[in-house]
Amino acid sequence: MDISQENCNEDLDSLSKDIPVLSEYAKGLETHVKRRYLQKISLVGVDPASIPSDQFDPECLPSIEATDLVSYLVLETSYYTKQQFKCYKSLEAYNKMVSGFVTSVQGKIIAGKHVVVGKVRLPQRMNDPLVNIWVITESDGTILAAHCLGCKAGLAESCSHIASVLFYIEAWIRINGKLACAQVKCSWLLPTYVNEVSYERVKDIDFSSSKKVKENLNEKINSLEDKAAKPAGNHRIQSSYKAAPLQQRKLEHCLQN
Ligand SMILES: [Zn+2]
Repeated sequence: MDISQENCNEDLDSLSKDIPVLSEYAKGLETHVKRRYLQKISLVGVDPASIPSDQFDPECLPSIEATDLVSYLVLETSYYTKQQFKCYKSLEAYNKMVSGFVTSVQGKIIAGKHVVVGKVRLPQRMNDPLVNIWVITESDGTILAAHCLGCKAGLAESCSHIASVLFYIEAWIRINGKLACAQVKCSWLLPTYVNEVSYERVKDIDFSSSKKVKENLNEKINSLEDKAAKPAGNHRIQSSYKAAPLQQRKLEHCLQN
């Protein structure tokens, strides 16, 4: 074992010491991938893949905005390739989100950060297990780290699975920010999760492109804004609720649970 190899192992040992429980997934990673994984999860001191799903809350999501998506998916540099992610699969990711291939997106606050887990289905392989991903963000939505448990190491930080969950959270936050005023349930608007693909008669298939679906979703979200701007009846109560910053309301919600 040469000196650099020895340093690597020491580094790995000291990193793992701070994480009480490692998932089987993390334990099975190759050394250099595992080191990177440990560096990322040391942000919260817990391996998100080892947390039981009943400890997460679907309402506890970070305030990810479009700018956070751009910073992470486009400008962030890949740890492995030293190249910008360039959002190379962003459209594919958006397609997945609007097509309902994203499910079980839920979060939890750990060490002052948001840890979000989510599942994504592979479109061509409807019977395969769902792909698990996790994301760590600041409460203001800044994306600090992400990991896909279904993709190869080099791609696992910016794959379309991660991107589609990020798009989902961004849409959820946009809708939720307006819901407080318009009092509509978020789940009514987000694409319904596709559980299975059945054979349909051609006339029943929705051939609108995902671009059109995206436009429709944006239209729905914007119409909420209009409703919120013209509340009927209990105007005063609604506008005072609206005055509380979304981030603060969300933090209060997460801390209550
Ligand atoms: Zn992936």
